[in-house]
Amino acid sequence: MTNQDDQFKKVISHAKEYGYVFQSSEIYDGLSAVYDYAQNGAELKKNIREYWWKAMVQMNENIVGIDAAIFMHPTTWKASGHVDAFNDPLIDNKDSKKRYRADVLIEDYCAKIEAKIDKEVEKAAKRFGDSFDKAQFLATNTRVVEYQEKINTTLSRMAKSLEREDLADVKALIEELEIADPLTGSRNWTDVKQFNLMFGTKLGASAENAMDLYLRPETAQGIFVNFLNVQKTSRLKIPFGIAQTGKAFRNEIVARQFIFRMREFEQMEMQFFIKPGTQKEWYEQWKETRLKWHLSLGMGAENYRFHDHEKLAHYADAAADIEFKFPFGFKELEGIHSRTDFDLSQHEKFSGKKLQYFDHEDNSSYVPYVVETSIGLDRMFLAVFSNSLKEETLEDGSTRTVLALPSVLAPVKAAVFPLVKKDGLPEIAQQIVEELKWDFNVVYDEKDAVGRRYRRQDANGTPFCITVDHDTLEDNMVTIRHRDSMQQERVKMDALRDIIKQDVDMRSWLMKM
Ligand code: ATP
Repeated sequence: MTNQDDQFKKVISHAKEYGYVFQSSEIYDGLSAVYDYAQNGAELKKNIREYWWKAMVQMNENIVGIDAAIFMHPTTWKASGHVDAFNDPLIDNKDSKKRYRADVLIEDYCAKIEAKIDKEVEKAAKRFGDSFDKAQFLATNTRVVEYQEKINTTLSRMAKSLEREDLADVKALIEELEIADPLTGSRNWTDVKQFNLMFGTKLGASAENAMDLYLRPETAQGIFVNFLNVQKTSRLKIPFGIAQTGKAFRNEIVARQFIFRMREFEQMEMQFFIKPGTQKEWYEQWKETRLKWHLSLGMGAENYRFHDHEKLAHYADAAADIEFKFPFGFKELEGIHSRTDFDLSQHEKFSGKKLQYFDHEDNSSYVPYVVETSIGLDRMFLAVFSNSLKEETLEDGSTRTVLALPSVLAPVKAAVFPLVKKDGLPEIAQQIVEELKWDFNVVYDEKDAVGRRYRRQDANGTPFCITVDHDTLEDNMVTIRHRDSMQQERVKMDALRDIIKQDVDMRSWLMKM
């Protein structure tokens, strides 16, 4: 097992052990790629959603939020292109009977070559020391240039074949590259087929009159079909945005990366409506703004990178992913897409209704262009959770497991302990809980020695522990301990609220954007 696999396994078992994420219907052996958020997970997820909503909706005068239904009129999905084109190319291995996404097999092949490039860079950086010029090395080292060319030709051939729907060539490419089943090494592949990812269901009481519906595969269409209603009732002027968070459903072919790829998941999307011709500027601006939002959480700039798309979706004229370094490598966390007027024009065509904006400034009507930002809430959860889980060696040689969650997102902000379970200390600790719970999610804990309680809260991600001891009876002061530094200080009981607030308040975090 590699280090990466090991780390990922730790993340999954920690998420279960500390009440963050459970397999759905576990008592029936679970349902594949469906997960439930437990007592701490639900809080963390809610906090991430709020952090996004604050930054995207409430802090922007020209962005409003809605909450559209999961069910939509079925024509929506004809218009959006999902009925005809929301497919993944799948391929089966005849020996292992395992199913893969053909494009992912090819992309993983390229990622391996990229890892080789990274190794060469690392070696050279060591060799040349301070005089190392990475850009020059990448452009001139023959081996690296060859690797890069291989990646470029492979990805562009795949993109072209997929665009032409030439699935035979996608298979040919897999065979030429000698890509094997990652689990068994077998190269005995079936043909590549298209597979539609939408879940179907029925609306209506009788079989004859039932209407075929889909569970929405993205939240974006709920925004597009409401575009005019929102614009008219809010009287927003272009440029403006409509945001929402909510469930989406995809019958993913390969779903074996925990909450990274689920069949039922949640998205946080924002569609920004703009004047045609201004899409390049807005696209760049939203890329930058979204990256800043991520960086504000302090999870390390080196863990993010942009990936510009070669293979553009049918609706886009530019698209980039913000990739994050998950335990299994850099993968898409968020997409920023310049969607042109594709969606609104399609809905005009299929509904027969005008979906245009009247621009008073130049006295003209037009179908707005759209720049979208789309992030998976569950993927963001995994990014935050996996990045925060650390094994630390302390000065005395012992180790501790700490879930160093950004405190603004932590499910529990403070745990309050009586040093011992007697002498009136529990009552004071309970009183502190009663006082703090108006502002924060706090817990009371009196079980085990204080040291053990500290460790439990460290592993749970709680930024503060507050201990009431015998001196408290005299001086009304308590010990507050900080999770990351493990520093302890004695503070007045009535200062607790401000100390915690200063640290966990969204304002101070979002100010860093
Ligand atoms: P991928 O290439 O990983 O399948 P995508 O490009 O299809 O993702 P989009 O359609 O752009 O994804 O969706 C926007 C965001 O929604 C993604 O960046 C991701 O964070 C999230 N997302 C998409 N599919 C899933 C899924 N099955 N489970 C969890 N999150 C998802």
